[in-house]
Amino acid sequence: MKCLVCGDKPVYHYRDFGFSLCRKHFIEWFEKKVFETIKRFKLIRPGELVAVAVSGGKDSLTTLYLLNRFSEKLDFKVIGLAVDEGIKGYREYKLDALRNFANKIGVELVITSFKEYFNATLDEMVHTLKEKRMEYKPCTICGVFRRYLINLKAREIGASKVATGHNLDDEVQVFLMNMLRAGLRNIAREGIITGLHEHPKLVPRIKPLYFCREKEVLAYSILSGIETPFVECSYVVYAFRDKVRRWINKVESLNPGIKLNLLALKELISNLLRNSKYGEGVIGTCQICGEPSSGNICKTCFFIDYLGLETSMVLRKEI
Ligand SMILES: [Zn+2]
Ligand SMILES: [Zn+2]
Repeated sequence: MKCLVCGDKPVYHYRDFGFSLCRKHFIEWFEKKVFETIKRFKLIRPGELVAVAVSGGKDSLTTLYLLNRFSEKLDFKVIGLAVDEGIKGYREYKLDALRNFANKIGVELVITSFKEYFNATLDEMVHTLKEKRMEYKPCTICGVFRRYLINLKAREIGASKVATGHNLDDEVQVFLMNMLRAGLRNIAREGIITGLHEHPKLVPRIKPLYFCREKEVLAYSILSGIETPFVECSYVVYAFRDKVRRWINKVESLNPGIKLNLLALKELISNLLRNSKYGEGVIGTCQICGEPSSGNICKTCFFIDYLGLETSMVLRKEI
């Protein structure tokens, strides 16, 4: 196999399409794909401030790196936004790498934490969860709290969009999980851009890596010198997501192209659902904290109560 464009030594092989690209042409192709995704789906408009939610993993770092590179050409500003969940043996390493990286590319980084807002680290919350026999998984709670804080903080710094590093594999995994749980409302809501004009306090979310495979992002990040320590979150073993991920990867390796088919199917089903009763329902306001919520009380306030966290609701309502 040689590079499809120039015949040089290949660095990436597209099994489903049956071609390979050399280093230069792979990087060019990847960057063009992300750039065109932003333009074609109007993810960012001129003059916007985009907060990139960075976990410190390769996907979010690549998103930060590329948005920063495109910011001048497309006339927008970028800021990194990180959440310290308080996961010992994981978060401190990723945060260090993140600080170095943001420094290196000259992007401002804002860090907020569970401890600061919820008065407990995720490790402390998991302790309570174990006492409650793990009725909820750590990842469920972490995801709810992270989304809440990122939205709140992004709004606070005046960002008009939140960009996340979700890639094609993430989208397909979440789609399958939603299918397996019959989460039709979620399927109707998910997409490359969400939360537009839904609630005055909800900052819309965009996913510039929507059409990039996990392996492509990994290859691109390595080839571009984007470094991140390989430490996995200690709670990954509890995640249903991890099982779905392994399963799809196995099926894809036997049948290249399955992931792309699933993404196409997801778009189709999601469009159909959006125009049905599953796409209805407006985002309301949480009666406790005043943040956007699909029910009377948001999931964050529900979990604060469930975990018995002593955090000041009044204070949060004023933010
Ligand atoms: Zn080439
Ligand atoms: Zn609430």
